[in-house]
Amino acid sequence: MRETITLTGIVLVSSPVREYDKRIEILTRERGRIPAFAQGARKQNSALSACTIPFTFGTFQVYEGRSAYIVKSGEIENYFANLADNYDSLCYASYFTEVARYLTRENIRADEELMLLYITFRALQRKNVPVKLIRRIFELRIMSLQGQTPELFVCIKCGNTDAFDVYMTEGGLICQNCAQKLELKRQYAVQLSHDARYTLQYIISSPIQKLYNFNVSDAVMDNIDKFMVKYLLQYLPHHFNASDFLA
Ligand SMILES: [Zn+2]
Repeated sequence: MRETITLTGIVLVSSPVREYDKRIEILTRERGRIPAFAQGARKQNSALSACTIPFTFGTFQVYEGRSAYIVKSGEIENYFANLADNYDSLCYASYFTEVARYLTRENIRADEELMLLYITFRALQRKNVPVKLIRRIFELRIMSLQGQTPELFVCIKCGNTDAFDVYMTEGGLICQNCAQKLELKRQYAVQLSHDARYTLQYIISSPIQKLYNFNVSDAVMDNIDKFMVKYLLQYLPHHFNASDFLA
């Protein structure tokens, strides 16, 4: 008899296999993103069917099979069921799971990624923060967890905090003095307002639980969007299918 282990996680994707089974992927705190089979999960009245629905958060009792884990049982703590009721939140939740899937691996702990995904779903559900801002916060923070953010606090050349132009290919902020010395063309930089820079700094440095407790003006949102488009192009050059459906 194989040893059963308990993992805490969120179901990222679920697909039917064989006649009655499901193959799922769970982002777990303890073992990163893992593949798992839920045998009989598509049978009526299966105890496993509810805990194999995407976005479900809970604890899973599993054991290691040959090529994937086998789910024995699950205890659901939050279904996030109403995310699927609204088309927009469904699209955004699908996009966030796709990004999380892409950036996580099996056997690498994912404590913070899991917490980030969880509170991002909660923010989507609560609707206090506009979805477009939720998207940018999630993207920047999950990339920052991978150590993939440009320097956004000081000029990368001289350490001056009076720097608002981000040169993506150089790796972050460069003050106007240094840019002149280096003969960098300012039109290639993303110029941040004071508020936009502060917002980006907050997103990468605040405790995860406090990420979704603010809003920004349209001008700052616009500035952040411009930054994020260039940033993702440089740091995450991957097409996410779910991004085609974002409003
Ligand atoms: Zn400088």
